[in-house]
Amino acid sequence: MSSRDWEVEVSIEKSIDIDGKTYRILGRVDLLKRNSSGDIVDVVEVKTVKEFTNQFPLEHHLLQLRVYLELLGAEHGKILYISRNRMVEYEVERGEISIENMVRETIYNTAVPRYSWECRYCTYKKICPYAVREEHSSSS
Ligand code: SF4
Repeated sequence: MSSRDWEVEVSIEKSIDIDGKTYRILGRVDLLKRNSSGDIVDVVEVKTVKEFTNQFPLEHHLLQLRVYLELLGAEHGKILYISRNRMVEYEVERGEISIENMVRETIYNTAVPRYSWECRYCTYKKICPYAVREEHSSSS
């Protein structure tokens, strides 16, 4: 497969109107491939990692790709995890996703935190009533 088949770091942009205001959604797809008719046939998000865990693909990586698929009108894509000595690819279906709901959650702050790992690194965790407190694990 020739590298000319792929577009690299493709910017995507979409405007969405919510409650009388226009919001611009911006993204950048790592790899994108079209057929001769210009239809998107593959979308790949590449993630470099130090080591592999059994938690891959990570939830926020799945969501990121699904948002890109929705914005591009594509049905499926891949997340490609690359470490120094390993490469693993996960097929991802777009599924049901509402960009409008996600933007609403963000602007009205109704999904806090969006991911539990955000709290892990947050300065306010000790005093925040919404903080997600994870069980300690001997493997971490
Ligand atoms: S600790 Fe509170 S402020 Fe920090 S990420 Fe979690 S929910 Fe948000």
